[in-house]
Amino acid sequence: MKLSDLGEFGFITRIASRYSTQHPAIIKGIGDDAAALCFSDKEVVLFSTDQVIEGIHFRLETTDEWKLGWKSLAVNLSDIAAMGGTPLGFTLSLAVPTQRISVEFLDGFYDGLFSLARKTGVHLLGGDTSRSGAALIISVSIVGTAPREQVVYRSGGKDNDDLYITGWLGEAALGLAILEGGNRGSDVESLVERHLCPVARLREGKALAEHKIAHAMIDLSDGLLADARHLARESGLGVEIDTSLVPLSSALKRYAGDYGADPLTLALTGGEDYELLFSAAMERRKDIELLQRECSSPITRIGKLSRWAEGVTLRDEQGRTRKADVVGYDHFRLRV
Ligand code: ADP
Ligand code: MG
Repeated sequence: MKLSDLGEFGFITRIASRYSTQHPAIIKGIGDDAAALCFSDKEVVLFSTDQVIEGIHFRLETTDEWKLGWKSLAVNLSDIAAMGGTPLGFTLSLAVPTQRISVEFLDGFYDGLFSLARKTGVHLLGGDTSRSGAALIISVSIVGTAPREQVVYRSGGKDNDDLYITGWLGEAALGLAILEGGNRGSDVESLVERHLCPVARLREGKALAEHKIAHAMIDLSDGLLADARHLARESGLGVEIDTSLVPLSSALKRYAGDYGADPLTLALTGGEDYELLFSAAMERRKDIELLQRECSSPITRIGKLSRWAEGVTLRDEQGRTRKADVVGYDHFRLRV
């Protein structure tokens, strides 16, 4: 069988179904943003890993080493944020094509990485170094902690929960298109930054967990539709997204057309925004409003979880619904 027939997520499901762990210390294994391990009666250790690979996640022609270092850590921090945890430390493994990569490049890479590490109070714990025959491969594993009663899993969603996102979607995907298109002006620099230097929503994730607002949560790495499907599936529900509620930033609306893209499609399917998608009871709307005043970016209600919705359903302004077909990035299939 071809991997492209199975798809990335079919492959992960296949592994998970062949291997079922039952150890009292493993609260959550495969299937969430991070694994959750029992550390004590009250505390959970969160553990997650993510790779950043030349030719797949970045090209040396369009990235700079400082930002690459920053992003390699940021995408891992985002998985801890999605569990409502606090990051503690990380390991970093490098496979380096030594003919093409210089010491100065790696120094710059670590400058970016350490800058974000200091900002977020997370510590480098070790790693591994190897020569690579082809691509530069960066592999980060991260550990964090959370009070046991506060961890937010993808599976905690309840029927009729409101569905929210933090921040703005689609900007990172547009930033990538701008980067790939070459000749960019300073007016689109903020979009390019969204792609090169994502910000993990650690503060928001932790607050949503501490106040027990979020029932289920996931970070948006594959695109809203794909990640909403993950969250809904793990919660045993469907999801309905009201397309007229999905916030479109003015930059997205202004520039998407220049790159042959539709703003809403970018917001629904563009990956790598590293915002949070979470569900919460309708009774918490006031609390979420209060919380968003303390945050630097908006928190927007975009739909709901429902046992009646089939997969991911889109509702337009006229109230017409249709099942979403294009769902997002799949490493083995490119698009599902
Ligand atoms: P994220 O986008 O948050 O990094 P992924 O979609 O990569 O999450 O992974 C979903 C789940 O599948 C996670 O629990 C992850 O640890 C697990 N997973 C991914 N790839 C593998 C693999 N090759 N073997 C085992 N588990 C995997
Ligand atoms: Mg994730």
